[in-house]
Amino acid sequence: MASRSSVALVTGAGSGIGRATACMLAANGTKVGVLGRTRLELEEVAAEISAQGGEALVLEADVSEEIPMRKAVDALVSAFGGLDIIVANAGINGVWAPIDDLQPFEWDETIAVNLRGTFLTLHTTVPHLKQNGGGAIVVVSSINGTRTFTTPGATAYTATKAAQVAMVQQLALELARHQIRVNAVCPGEIDTSISENTSLRREEETAIPVDWPVGQVPITGGKPGRSQDVAEVIRFLVSDEARHITGSPVWVDGGQGLLR
Ligand code: NAD
Repeated sequence: MASRSSVALVTGAGSGIGRATACMLAANGTKVGVLGRTRLELEEVAAEISAQGGEALVLEADVSEEIPMRKAVDALVSAFGGLDIIVANAGINGVWAPIDDLQPFEWDETIAVNLRGTFLTLHTTVPHLKQNGGGAIVVVSSINGTRTFTTPGATAYTATKAAQVAMVQQLALELARHQIRVNAVCPGEIDTSISENTSLRREEETAIPVDWPVGQVPITGGKPGRSQDVAEVIRFLVSDEARHITGSPVWVDGGQGLLR
């Protein structure tokens, strides 16, 4: 990694896992571009980072839009002089509904944010990592689509999360010659505001019931994990301590994905 301070881009940094990751990386001395759609939230995160003595740049962009993403990445590179770490985290649950009820525009929206958004995040940033002589990428996937297929009606979401892990494995090989590592984290239920971006219809037609003593996260007695639990793994994966890890999905789910 370069001798100047490391620079990271975190997408969806205004809340949840992205926010926790941005704050954790900044606390470790990394300068962070906090990218998202909601400027007010991003400014709060940037203020929290500077209050802790770190440096952040607010980048307002929709990850599914090419031009705003290019502009945001250019702004980050000119402000901080390079780019070393990419956390492709922005995502939505979208609409969860039976396949014959899910509307094509609803399918398109989930694919646009979660999959095209991941593509554009990497497409616009990888040239800077190559120029740098290396870097680390973490994509935030999910247990859904990787070891869980029982979430009611989540076909579009599951398809994007499986595709993200496929991208990670494909790119780990493509980018190894550039000293760029590419990994995924696959969280289970985490206590964030993602449910505000979820619309669930006709669950009775798609639900796959699973019985367990309490809740669905075995290691916590049913409680969801915290954003920091995921951020901690991302912090490790982008650090030099993980220098021999690439193309690997890491499940951060308290065993939930093994259960359902
Ligand atoms: P969240 O809703 O708190 O965070 C998602 C962030 O992405 C928000 O700040 C939102 O504004 C931003 N965002 C959404 N669409 C965007 C777009 N088009 N362009 C730019 N920013 C956009 O939820 P979270 O749980 O922190 O989600 C982060 C990631 O974690 C997602 O990819 C999600 O699929 C994944 N995940 C979450 C859970 C969970 O239980 N919370 C489980 C598995 C995977």
